[in-house]
Amino acid sequence: MTRVFAFVDADNNPQVGVEWRGVTYNFTLAWDLFRQIKLDATAPQFPFVELLLESGLFYSETFDELFETLMEFRSIKDLRIRGHWQLRAPVQRPQKVIGIGRNYGRHALELGNAIPDEPVFFAKSPSSIIASGDRIVLPKDVGRVDYEGELALVIGKEGQNIAPEQAGEYIAGYTILNDVTARDIQKQDKEKKLPWFRAKSYNTFCPLGPWLVPAGEIADPQDVQVTVRVNDEVRQNGHTGDMLFPVNEIVAYLSRHMTLMPGDVVATGTPEGVGPLQPGDTVEVEVGDIGVLRNPVR
Ligand code: MG
Repeated sequence: MTRVFAFVDADNNPQVGVEWRGVTYNFTLAWDLFRQIKLDATAPQFPFVELLLESGLFYSETFDELFETLMEFRSIKDLRIRGHWQLRAPVQRPQKVIGIGRNYGRHALELGNAIPDEPVFFAKSPSSIIASGDRIVLPKDVGRVDYEGELALVIGKEGQNIAPEQAGEYIAGYTILNDVTARDIQKQDKEKKLPWFRAKSYNTFCPLGPWLVPAGEIADPQDVQVTVRVNDEVRQNGHTGDMLFPVNEIVAYLSRHMTLMPGDVVATGTPEGVGPLQPGDTVEVEVGDIGVLRNPVR
C-alpha cells in the first residue's frame, strides 16, 4: 500500500514522505530529481501534501511512475529518509475541517439524540490539528473531554453540487481523525441552541494522520473497521458499513452547501463507545489498513 505523510527534517524544513512498496522515501527529494530528469526546473516542488492535492497529482500512479522512472536512472536507496525528522499532520492548513455528527445510529442514541434524516455537519477550527504522537492538552475548567475515532476523507478537487455517483472523483484520500470534543461545553451550548464550534475547536483537539492514503488504495470505504483503544483497552469498535450516510452522500450533501476545496478534511462520524480522556492516557485510533493515530493526553 502507498501511504503518504508529512514531516520536518532536522533543520525544520517541511517535506513529504511516502511509504512505497514497504520502504519509506523522501518524496520531496525524489520529485526534485524527477523534475530534473523528466520535467524541467520550473516544474513545481512539493514540500507539503496540500500542494500535491492542489496539483491534482495525489494518486498512487504518481508515486509508481516517479519511483519506477528514477529506478531506471539510479538506485533509489539514497532517497530513504535519514537523520532526525519529526512527523506532522498530513494536511496542516486546510481551508476547512468539517465533522459529521450522529452518522452511526447507536452513537446518536448513546448521547440521547434522535437518528437524523439528513447529514448533520459542524466545523472544527483547522488550528486544532496536531500530528500522531503530539499531545492532546485537556483545557482547564471545561469538564469532560471525549475521544471520537473516525475515518476522515480529504478533498482533492474543487467542487460544488457534486452528484453522489461522482463524489469519488473529488476524494483524494483517506486518513484518521480523532474528533476530540469538550462534551460538557457541547452540552451547555446545545441546550442554549448554540453551535458546537467551540467544543470541537480547542487547540490539539484534532489529531490527524499519521498517513494519507490515496483513495484508490481503499477498496471500499464502507468496509473498514474503526477501533479506539485507551491505554490498550478497546473502547470503540465500529464498522463504516454502519454509517447512516456513506462517504459519497456526505461529499454530495456538503457540496450543495459550500464549495469543497483541495485539502479540505471531512471527518465521517464516530461509532458508539465515546468516553472521557484523562491526563496520562494514551489514545489510539486504528482505521482499517490506513494505520494507527496515537496521541498521549496531558
Ligand atoms: Mg465526531
